[in-house]
Amino acid sequence: MPMKRDHSKLLCDLSELTALFTDTTNLDGLLQKIVDMIALHMDADVCSVYLYYEDSQELVLKATHGLNPESINKVRLKLGEGLTGVALKELRPVSDGDAVNHPGFRHFDGIGEEKFASFVAVPIMRGQTRVGAMTLQSIQKDVFTPDDVNVFRAITSQMATTIEMTKLLMSLERPAAAPVAHKSVPEFKMVKGRIGAEGFALGPLSFVTRTAWEECAVRSAGRPLTLADFHQAVLATEKELKDMQQAIEEKLFDVASLIFSAQILMLKDQAMLGAMEERIRKGVAPEQAVTEVVREYAGRFDRMTNQFLREKKYDVMDVGSRLLNNLVGVCDRGSYAKSIVVARELLPSDALKLSTQGVLGLVLLSGGVTSHVAVLARSLNIPLVIADEDRMLDLIPGTRLLLDASLGNIYIDPSEDTVRKFQEKEALKVNALKVAPSLKDETRTQDGVRIKLLANINLIGDVAVARQYKAEGIGLYRTEFPFMVRSDFPTEEEQYVIYRRLVESMKGAVITFRTLDIGGDKVLSYYDDHKEANPFLGLRSIRFSLKHREIFVQQVRAILRAGHDAPVRIMFPMIASVDEFTAARGLVDACIMDLKAEGIAHQSKPVIGIMVELPSAVEMIDDLAQEAAFFSVGTNDLIQYTLAVDRTNEKVADMYLPYHPAVLRSLKRIADAALKYGREISVCGDMAHEARYMPFFVGIGIHAFSLDARYLPRVQERLLSLDSGKAKIFSEGLLRESRVDAVLKKLETLAL
Ligand code: PEP
Ligand code: MG
Repeated sequence: MPMKRDHSKLLCDLSELTALFTDTTNLDGLLQKIVDMIALHMDADVCSVYLYYEDSQELVLKATHGLNPESINKVRLKLGEGLTGVALKELRPVSDGDAVNHPGFRHFDGIGEEKFASFVAVPIMRGQTRVGAMTLQSIQKDVFTPDDVNVFRAITSQMATTIEMTKLLMSLERPAAAPVAHKSVPEFKMVKGRIGAEGFALGPLSFVTRTAWEECAVRSAGRPLTLADFHQAVLATEKELKDMQQAIEEKLFDVASLIFSAQILMLKDQAMLGAMEERIRKGVAPEQAVTEVVREYAGRFDRMTNQFLREKKYDVMDVGSRLLNNLVGVCDRGSYAKSIVVARELLPSDALKLSTQGVLGLVLLSGGVTSHVAVLARSLNIPLVIADEDRMLDLIPGTRLLLDASLGNIYIDPSEDTVRKFQEKEALKVNALKVAPSLKDETRTQDGVRIKLLANINLIGDVAVARQYKAEGIGLYRTEFPFMVRSDFPTEEEQYVIYRRLVESMKGAVITFRTLDIGGDKVLSYYDDHKEANPFLGLRSIRFSLKHREIFVQQVRAILRAGHDAPVRIMFPMIASVDEFTAARGLVDACIMDLKAEGIAHQSKPVIGIMVELPSAVEMIDDLAQEAAFFSVGTNDLIQYTLAVDRTNEKVADMYLPYHPAVLRSLKRIADAALKYGREISVCGDMAHEARYMPFFVGIGIHAFSLDARYLPRVQERLLSLDSGKAKIFSEGLLRESRVDAVLKKLETLAL
């Protein structure tokens, strides 16, 4: 009879994972620490980690707690060979209570496995990439329960990113360095860009990443430095990174992840540090040694074909400039604080790092992939302008910039007069915020119709604003943000921890989880297949989830687990057909069955609905109403697809018309179907935060809205003054109009 373990504290929290790095001096040591920790957590005699090498299709034993350490690097298994190979090949846990007598067991001489009967192997995956496998063994027979297997799988998935990065660093080879470019002084005063995130900022310019590194790289100490100075600098850099990791965790729990783990790992890489030390011992100045090795490593990453790996060069450069700063002390790493950063492109994780360093504003020089950075910048409260203007790169660092991100303007070295004008404007806005109107707990129209006001959130940090503005729940949680800011797919555990925090902070109020809605303008940097000619018509949203079921399953399981004791709703985005809805719902049902079989606490009756944002869904709306529990209308996409107007293309911005008769009539059809079948309906697109559409919505019977919480006061104010009877008559009049102009006139002259 297997012994029941106490799993109450089996999952590691972020701080425990970060602590793994402490006292570890090299990458092998880190893997050893991981297996020691898991063996202890799981009360197992053996825990081992194998890394998988795609080229040779081989798993190699890299660290073990309990087996003969001599077998490290010697035990090799082909994909599908032995129970461990099967686990990785078939991407499922393999467990046996008497494994040594199992026909699939692969014996190795000298490894010392004969005495261990119970065995579990689980694959280590990062998104869709096979990273390796982990095993547990115990002398006793039949010792591991299904519950143990699940917990082991969960812990392993928490470790996946760190293990993959370790593997990558271990396997780097080393050719030569790349040259440096230079710049000249420009003559221009103002650049017109697009609004990324509204706001105002005034400060000195600095360039991000590449330039920072190149500038640090040419400094020298001015006094002879020693190996001891170098070791001191390594320690200081490590502390700096850990402090930043902690700061980011406190501020932005959900998107923080182990954002600095790649860099911390680099400081554990004996090959890289060793190369620096070797040069120093041979008489090369430490700052020179750091510069040479960092260039060499950055060059090596730069030549990799995989984009995810190529991005790592920025981490190496970042570590390099930090090391130099701590060595030489003149390369001011804090220079992003109180500055306006100009960058050709930024990863969301860069934006996070910059925000913890106190950056004032951002200028991005490329549009495309950046709009997710824009949404993040909004949640982080960093003004951002996107300007397709390469001349900005020629400016001298330190040049004073004024960003009027509310208009998309960048002023270069502005006059005192211009500065004063903006400062006055800004002061007015701040005062307006202080006198924000007090909100009522419940919203009713003049004639007593109850209206529900919910909040849209992107980051968990938005919950505080939602609560402050008395939102009755979350009507749209855009779950893609934790996906967008990471350098790879978050695991089930990572998602669970984030969702659970959200559930706890909402204290029993309803939370609507929209499943992953990536694609279109929301690009994942680590998903290589994202280059599509028409991304808005491509593999986005629910199509992506249904195609990559392993990713979808992890998300749904995380939601169900996090909401085991809360009123959670699951909402599928971009549903085009009843078939798609039933396929997605079927997957949720399957997850519920699995969780039940595994004995894991979960929500067994989630309310499941859809976003209505496609013309095809409008055509099928009666059929969808018979299947889905609720509708939430995503007007941003509904307008885009109904009118065939790209919502991100400035050239057609004047054709993007929420009040187009086709849009209004679609809304009416959706509302009618919801009312006919008794389904709840809400609007969660940007139309819901525009007070002027409230009479129309209420008039066609929509009584729930989900919006960015900052707009709640003005929307509530409008609703309180409405009479639903008059609103109905008004909406009927609007729907009779066939011309855009006529609708607009009615909206503008309305006196309800
Ligand atoms: C919408 O399309 O209206 C919506 C709310 O979703 P998103 O803006 O995230 O696409
Ligand atoms: Mg949408």
